[in-house]
Amino acid sequence: MTVDLDTESCIECCACADLCPEVFEMDDRTGKARVIVFEVTDTICIEEAITTCPAECIFRRE
Ligand code: SF4
Repeated sequence: MTVDLDTESCIECCACADLCPEVFEMDDRTGKARVIVFEVTDTICIEEAITTCPAECIFRRE
């Protein structure tokens, strides 16, 4: 699975980075989340991040 996010829509809540720190991190410079590993195997973690993200800006690409 490949994951991506719309950085512009991110509201900086940190939920994705808390749930999947191996995939997402908060950018110190912009304050927004960013993807650090695009190809992921822990799909449960990503599904949780997608459903938790209040801005609905995390996307799964098969
Ligand atoms: S969960 Fe969504 S809104 Fe929150 S930091 Fe991650 S991408 Fe941004």
